[in-house]
Amino acid sequence: MYPPPHDASRPLTLRPQTEAPVLSVVLPMHNEAENVQPLFARLIPTLEKLGVPYEVICVDDGSRDDSWSQLLLARQINPRIRLLRFSRNFGKEMAMTAGLRHAHGRAVVLMDSDLQHPPELIEQFYAQWQAGAQVVYGVRQSRDTDPPLRRWLTRCFYRLLDSMSEVPLPRDAGDFRLMDRIVVETLNQMDERTRFMKGLYSWVGFRQVAVPFETAARHAGTSTFSKLKLFRFALDGIVSFSTLPLRVWSWLGLLVAAVAVFYGAFILVMTLLYGVDVPGYASLMVATLFLGGVQLICLGVLGDYLGRVFSEVKRRPLYVLSDSAGFSPDEQRQERPAAMTERRSGAN
Ligand code: UDP
Ligand code: MG
Repeated sequence: MYPPPHDASRPLTLRPQTEAPVLSVVLPMHNEAENVQPLFARLIPTLEKLGVPYEVICVDDGSRDDSWSQLLLARQINPRIRLLRFSRNFGKEMAMTAGLRHAHGRAVVLMDSDLQHPPELIEQFYAQWQAGAQVVYGVRQSRDTDPPLRRWLTRCFYRLLDSMSEVPLPRDAGDFRLMDRIVVETLNQMDERTRFMKGLYSWVGFRQVAVPFETAARHAGTSTFSKLKLFRFALDGIVSFSTLPLRVWSWLGLLVAAVAVFYGAFILVMTLLYGVDVPGYASLMVATLFLGGVQLICLGVLGDYLGRVFSEVKRRPLYVLSDSAGFSPDEQRQERPAAMTERRSGAN
């Protein structure tokens, strides 16, 4: 379906790097050593073919294999590849955030580094952008590469989130996308910690165009998203894009109170008509346990939101860089939260 990958035995002539990049490609990487070279073998020819100045920003998200040395090697061959390295694993969302903040291009492409997102599709993304789209996102045609249970859960999750969230979320749209500078700048202004990127992409709006694509199987290695991680990720999505879980309890409370009033009236009438009826152990027990359970759930939900508020107000940097290549010291921003910088400059 896609053109064959670049033949590694045939040297690729790289255009000299002088002008500012028009296109930036951001690649989050966690333990992708085996995928680095095959990825560049397909990505770089695609970018060269476009004929515009480009840059590739790889963010090594605390890999424990030799991804970093592979990246340094790739940079020796092509200086348009620029590198950032996190001091530990901060997660894909943070890696993408760092990449977006360091990208210079007038358009920025986000994609996975395991070749599940075909690099050749960037040509179509680019054409759509040239035609006036501000966001071009890839839509997965099938999820055959995912296990059936994950596919089903993903479908349920998106349906649930879509019905609860304030902004509509396009189904099956992932992180594979191209964004105009104006969109990237908008995203860069958001320094929230619970970064559910799929929600943020929709939240910002702009002229968005979908491009269908087939996801390939992972080139090498295994997915790092365990079931627990995916569950936490799903929870993040719901909590950061909906306050419904907080509000629903008032309605449930109202319903229970209304039932209680009717039941109270019923007991009063029964007592007046037939006298005091002592047995009632079962109904008492059920009511107590049910309400106790509901209250605990409600407390849990409150706690979840409160915990997120707590981690937001600490305003720690979103990530910590330990190394970089191809960035000036000025560019290698450690991402201080805005409030902190303001306070400092105010003191001077
Ligand atoms: N990734 C990352 N940090 C992480 C986990 C993943 O930067 O903590 C990167 C990973 O290198 C890959 C992309 O995010 O480029 C998608 O990860 P993966 O293939 O494990 O997820 P899946 O395709 O199963 O959603
Ligand atoms: Mg993958």
